[in-house]
Amino acid sequence: MKSLQTKIFLFFVLLLLLVQSIALWTLIKGNNAQEQQEISNRLTTAKTIFTEQFNSRRDYLAAFAETAAKDYGIKDVFEDDTRSLLFALNNHRKRINADLAMAISANGNITAQLQVSHLDNAKTKVQKGSELGSQFKHTDWLESQEKSHLYMLDGTLYQLSLSPLSVGTSTIGWLAFGFEINQTLATHFLEITRLEVDFILNQNNQWLLIASSNPDADINFAKNIVNGQTPEQYIAIGELITEFDDQQFGLAMYGLRADIVKLLQEQWWQFLILTFITLLLSLTSAYIIAASITKPIKRLVKQAKMIARGDYQQKIELKDSSELGQLADEFNLMQQAVLTREQEITHRANHDPLTELPNRNILVKTLNQCISNKTSFQLFHLNLSRLKDVNETLGHDVGDWLIQRTADRLKKLSQFTLLCHLGGDEFILLFEKKEKHSITELVKNINTALEAHCDYGGINLQLQVRIGISSFPEHSNVDKTLLQMADTALQNARKNNKNYQCYDKSLDVNSVERLNLINDLKHAISDNQLELHYQPKLDLKTNVVTHAEALVRWYHPTLGMIPPDSFIHIAEQTGQINSLTRWVVATAFSQSATWRKDNIDINVAVNISAENLKEPDFYEFICNTLTANKVPANKVTLEVTESAVVDNPESAIMLLQRFKDTGIKISIDDYGTGYSSLAQLKQLPVHELKIDKSFVQHLHEDEDDRIIVRSTIELAHNMGLSVVSEGIEDDFALRWLAKQGCELGQGYFISRPKPTNDFTAWIKKQEVLSVEKG
Ligand code: C2E
Ligand code: CA
Ligand code: CA
Repeated sequence: MKSLQTKIFLFFVLLLLLVQSIALWTLIKGNNAQEQQEISNRLTTAKTIFTEQFNSRRDYLAAFAETAAKDYGIKDVFEDDTRSLLFALNNHRKRINADLAMAISANGNITAQLQVSHLDNAKTKVQKGSELGSQFKHTDWLESQEKSHLYMLDGTLYQLSLSPLSVGTSTIGWLAFGFEINQTLATHFLEITRLEVDFILNQNNQWLLIASSNPDADINFAKNIVNGQTPEQYIAIGELITEFDDQQFGLAMYGLRADIVKLLQEQWWQFLILTFITLLLSLTSAYIIAASITKPIKRLVKQAKMIARGDYQQKIELKDSSELGQLADEFNLMQQAVLTREQEITHRANHDPLTELPNRNILVKTLNQCISNKTSFQLFHLNLSRLKDVNETLGHDVGDWLIQRTADRLKKLSQFTLLCHLGGDEFILLFEKKEKHSITELVKNINTALEAHCDYGGINLQLQVRIGISSFPEHSNVDKTLLQMADTALQNARKNNKNYQCYDKSLDVNSVERLNLINDLKHAISDNQLELHYQPKLDLKTNVVTHAEALVRWYHPTLGMIPPDSFIHIAEQTGQINSLTRWVVATAFSQSATWRKDNIDINVAVNISAENLKEPDFYEFICNTLTANKVPANKVTLEVTESAVVDNPESAIMLLQRFKDTGIKISIDDYGTGYSSLAQLKQLPVHELKIDKSFVQHLHEDEDDRIIVRSTIELAHNMGLSVVSEGIEDDFALRWLAKQGCELGQGYFISRPKPTNDFTAWIKKQEVLSVEKG
C-alpha cells in the first residue's frame, strides 16, 4: 500500500473509474432521449429512401419513354404492322426490364400491349395485355403534360410513363412503359429500411391493399398508419401520395417497437462490453506505466542501499533522459565522490601526514598478518637522535624537514617488508628473516643510507639513529609485545649509548604481561589467590628434616600458577611486597604453630626482600606475629639476599641485629651471586650462608663449582656461620656436601616444594623413617 508503484496505480485506477463512470452516467442519461431520436431518424430515413427511389423510378421511366418515342424503327411500324410493333415494343421494354409496355394510336386505341407476369419460380412471362385493341381509359392523360401516372391493369398496379410519338409536327400516337408496384418492391424496401412496407390505393373511396412485404398485412392497419395513427407497440410512418391524377396512393412503413429497442439494447450491451474491455486495457497499461515509472526508482533505491553497504563498484545505468536519468547520473557521481572521500579518509587514517608513510594502524595489521602466516621477521624500532635539539635550536620546520629526509632515505632501503612512521622521531622497519640478512648487516645498511650529511640552508645536519630490535617468533607472537620489546631494546641502546640493541629478556623491566600482572597482583591477596608451598631442608649430619622454606605461589584466575620469579620483583617495584611478605609471614608462622600442635618441630624460613628491611615497623610486625602464633623466635629463619643488605647496610644491619638479638635466625640467600666480599659479610649479624643453587646443581661434573663450594663452606665455618646448600639435584651432591661438613641441604633430590598438606604428610613419613633408623 505504501509503495510508490501502488500509489501511482491506484491514482490511475481512480482516475479511470471516475472518467468511465462520468461517461457511463452521461450515456445512460442520453440513452432514453437517444432511443426516441433513433426511432424518428430511422423512420424519416426510411421514408426519404422510399421517396427517392420511387421518384427516380418515375423519372427513369419518363426519360426512357421519351427516348423510345424518338426511335424511327418504332415510328415505321407504328401504324401498320401490329406484329412488328409488338416486337419492336418488346425490344424497348426489355432494355429497362419494364413490366408493362403499350402503344396507343392517335385516336386512343391501344394498338400494342405487353404485360410481364411474375411467376412463382422467379421466372417471368411476357404476354399480350388484355386491353389490346380496346380504347385507352384515360384519354385525358394523353393530352396532359403529366408524365407519370398510376395505372391499374387486371388488378395489378403500375407506375406508368407516357410519351407522344411525333412525326413532324403531328402526333401519331403514344408509347407507355410501366413498372409494377408489387411485393418485390415492398420486400426491397424492407431489406433497405428494415421496416415492413404496405402499398395501398384508394379507388372509388375504397381502400385496396396493393402489395406488402408483410404476409399478414392488414388494410385497416395500413390505412391507420397512412392517416397518422400508430398503435402503441409499433413504430411507423405513413404517406399519402396524391400527385397521381385524382388517385390516392398510400404507403405504410412500420416495425415492432420491441424489435428496434432490442436492437438498440444490443448496441448498448456492445457498448458496455467495449467499455469494460477498454477499462481492463487501461488498467493494464496503468499498471505497466506505474511499474515503468517506479522501476528506475527501485533501482535507485537498491543502488543507495549498496552505497550504504560500502559497495562502490557497481554503477547504475538508466537509459532515461528524464529527471530520473539525471538522478541516476548524480548517484554515480555521488558514489564516486564518496569512494574518493573514503579512500582519502582511509589513507589519512593509515598514513603519517608529514612523511606519507604508513602509520601504526598499517604496522599492527602487517605484524598480525606476518604472525598468522608464520613469517618470521625482525622488527627494527628506529629513533632519530637529537631531533629535540634541532627543534629547539633551529625550529620545528627544520625538524620536520629532517624527518622527511630520514623517511626519503629509509624508503631507498630495498630489503624491508614495511617502513612506518609512528610520528615524531620514531620509525619502524620490518625485515623478513632471510639467510643473507644478518642483523649487523641490516644495521649497517641503515647507517649507510643515513650517513650523508643533510644541507639545510647552509647548515650541515647529520642523521643518526638508535635502533631497538625484536624478532618473531623468538621473542613473542603478540604484535604489541613485539613492539614493546623493540622499544625496550631501543631504550636500552639509548641508555648505554649504543647504535643498536637486540631485545633480551634481561632488558625487560616493563613488559605488557608485567603491566597486567601489576594490576592483577593488587587483588591476589584479597582474592585468596596466594598459597605457600614448603620445601624441606635436610640436616646432612642426622638425615632429619629440621627446617623448611616457605615459597609463595600465585594461582592466577586466568593464567594459572605463576612462579614467584615472575611476580616477586613486580611486587617489589610497585610497593606491593610489604603486604605480600606480611601475608607470607602470617601464613607461615600460623602454619608453624599448627605443626607444633601436631608435634612437628620444624624451623620455618621465609624470604625477606630488601624493601621489607626499609619498613619502619617491620621488626614489630615480625615479633607480634611470632607472639600471636606463640612460635618461639629460634624456630624461624629470615632469608635475606646479600644485595638487600649490602645496598643499604647501616639501617639493614641494625634491623638484622635486632632480629638476631630476639633469637630469630638470619640467612644470607643466593650467596655467591652478588659481589660482596666476605669482609663485608663479616660485619653482618647473620647465622648462616645459603650457597646459591647455581654452584650446587652441577657439582658432580664441575670441578670449579666443587672448589668454590668447598672453600665457601670452609670460610663460612671459619667466620662461625653455618652453611645451607640449595639446588641439590642428585645423590652425588648430597653425599659430597655432607662430606664437606655442610650443615643443611635443600633441593629437588630431597623434595620439591610441596603444598602444605602434602608437606605435612611427607614430613610425618620422614619422622617415622628417622625414628626407625634411630
Ligand atoms: P630462593 O629463595 O632461592 O628459593 C629457592 C628456589 O629454588 C625455589 O624456587 C625452589 O623451588 C628452587 N629450588 C629448590 N630446590 C631446587 C633444585 O634442586 N633445583 C632447582 N633448579 N631449583 C630448586 P621458587 O619457589 O620458584 O622461588 C624462586 C624465588 O622466588 C626464590 O628463590 C625467592 O627468591 C623468591 N621467593 C619465593 N617465595 C618468596 C616469598 O615468599 N617472598 C619473597 N620475598 N621472595 C620469594
Ligand atoms: Ca630463599
Ligand atoms: Ca636461593
